[in-house]
Amino acid sequence: MGSQAVRFEASEEFARRMDSEDPLRHLREEFIFPDHKSGEPAMYLVGNSLGLQPRKAKTYVLEALEDWAKLGVEGHFTGTRPWMPYHETLTEQTARLVGAHPIEVVVMNTLTVNLHLMMVSFYRPTRERSKILMEAGAFPSDQYAVASQVRFHGYDPERDILRLSPRPGEETLRLEDILETIERHGKEIALVLLGNVNYLTGQAFDMAAITRAAHKQGCQVGFDLAHGAGNLRLSLHDDGPDFAVWCSYKYLNGGPGTLGGVFVHERHARDKGLPRFEGWWGHNKQTRFQMGPDFDPSPGAEGWLLSNSPILQLSALRASMELFDRATMPALRHKSELLTGYLEFLLERLPPGFVTVLTPRDPKQRGVQLSLRFSKEPRRMLEKLNSAGVFCDFRSPDIIRAAPAPFYVSFHDVYRFVGVLERHARDSAD
Ligand SMILES: *Cc1c(COP(=O)(O)O)cnc(C)c1O
Repeated sequence: MGSQAVRFEASEEFARRMDSEDPLRHLREEFIFPDHKSGEPAMYLVGNSLGLQPRKAKTYVLEALEDWAKLGVEGHFTGTRPWMPYHETLTEQTARLVGAHPIEVVVMNTLTVNLHLMMVSFYRPTRERSKILMEAGAFPSDQYAVASQVRFHGYDPERDILRLSPRPGEETLRLEDILETIERHGKEIALVLLGNVNYLTGQAFDMAAITRAAHKQGCQVGFDLAHGAGNLRLSLHDDGPDFAVWCSYKYLNGGPGTLGGVFVHERHARDKGLPRFEGWWGHNKQTRFQMGPDFDPSPGAEGWLLSNSPILQLSALRASMELFDRATMPALRHKSELLTGYLEFLLERLPPGFVTVLTPRDPKQRGVQLSLRFSKEPRRMLEKLNSAGVFCDFRSPDIIRAAPAPFYVSFHDVYRFVGVLERHARDSAD
């Protein structure tokens, strides 16, 4: 398995051959590509930012609108897909996606909201143990959420947030340094909160090793899977973190701003003593509509639900989750290792010094994304990429993130993308 088993070649014919032998190639037709003025098919390398629209999304959203029009309030119980238990239709698929038991997952809210809700339950600072360990380079929303939680409990972000940084001169963190920090400061740390793929560098972490080390020190452990869900093969239950959160508009193709997901490990499923923010939809289903004054949480992740679900958003997400079930995560990940390996192979053939890959080389330490730093007029290059039909993500001043998502990016797309880079390298050579 893995990209090592394939001998890559730098020819267009090779890229075409890889596509014709790709067992997932038909899935590309299940997605709608944005128009591009060049008239050429777009090279869509920003699935790490917003996944493409599955063709079925519109059908499912229209279905829900029709039910609403025809049935009014009755749509909660009748119709194509009754709204009352609608979120449950995504539970099994979501559990398969992240390697969890169904009781451990729920689709609700958005990522930052869910992160706050999880911290309410799993960040319980005391005088002796008040700190949160996170990456210095964590996504800004996570940094704001963490700092505000620390302040909310009366602690000081300056003192109580420990930040992991790469060693001087290095771009990514070393697992040994993360584990060493946990061992050294573990007794002061209430919560270890890491991404499982860093949004900027594309580095993936060993969740099992980090969780084990943190639990050994008595810390709670949470992961932000914004860039991991739908990208990596995950086994949340076995890896054992206390919670995880993610959004569904990046690799999960659920649509802009759509609902995120939450994982709460089964060991907490029936702990009614855990502090949490409560809402009626998290109440035990058997008695929810008795409308009693006392909250009785549903077992598992559903016990954190607050509100009834936005059905139109869930409908679009359902279209994508069905495709994940069809493709399966192992097959998607196999293709994604090949695509990323191929991209890396082609980049290595560009003139020396033109591009630096910030993402680790080891496929176990990355997902599909490569983060690239360019030395020659990165902004001019970005313009050229855009006019050639490449959708990619630019981080000022010189980083481009390229994510060939295996659902809808072909080997030929990767080949064409590097072709644009190569022309720019040649044009700006002297
Ligand atoms: C994309 C992303 C977010 C976005 O948060 P929303 O609440 O969905 O807007 C947060 N954290 C990380 C790590 C992300 O990559």
